[in-house]
Amino acid sequence: MDKIKKILIGTHNNGKFKEISDLLPNSLEKVSPKKLNIDSPIENGKTFKENSEIKAEYFCKKSKLITLSDDSGLEVDCLNKQPGIFSARWAEKFGNFDNAMTEILKKVNEINGETKAQFVCSLTIQWPNGNKISEVGIIKGNISSKKGSNGFGYDPIFIPIGYSKTFAEMNYNEKLLIDHRYIAYKKLEKRIKNYF
Ligand code: IMP
Repeated sequence: MDKIKKILIGTHNNGKFKEISDLLPNSLEKVSPKKLNIDSPIENGKTFKENSEIKAEYFCKKSKLITLSDDSGLEVDCLNKQPGIFSARWAEKFGNFDNAMTEILKKVNEINGETKAQFVCSLTIQWPNGNKISEVGIIKGNISSKKGSNGFGYDPIFIPIGYSKTFAEMNYNEKLLIDHRYIAYKKLEKRIKNYF
């Protein structure tokens, strides 16, 4: 079994790149698609898992490096799990994340004020020989009014169960060690730790 020494973290999202880098062992050399001038694939999967596989396969093929990709997003129960896999695209559609969050809060209030939600993350590691492993992590919580300025994306409107502050009010390490990406990574780590 060849040990992994260098890995491409297949994302153009700076927040995700940092979180995934910090979860991986320090000893690994981490490369970004930006550094190799690789653009993003079309995400036409129907699930987080399909999209993380599409990204991992694409970035791995282009870079010829072992690649770890994530697809993640926020599912709001009363909005039929929207924005879900369209979380990044909602920010484009409404202009930015702040507007997308305002839209979610508006819709939740209009419907019934039911705030149950979850962040979901699928991580896929892909080897150039075609082998791949995926794991999904979920953190349940509630939608809140916008609070806090740390983190990225929808962090200001999500309070995980068991906490009284939003992800954006937590400090970086606090969020890093509980979120959906961490949960997916811990599952994946069990299956790949012998490669490190
Ligand atoms: P994609 O996986 O690149 O399609 O983008 C997922 C989108 O979901 C991101 O752009 C963020 O808006 C959102 N998202 C995923 N994970 C997080 C998180 O940990 N905090 C806040 N927003 C997130």
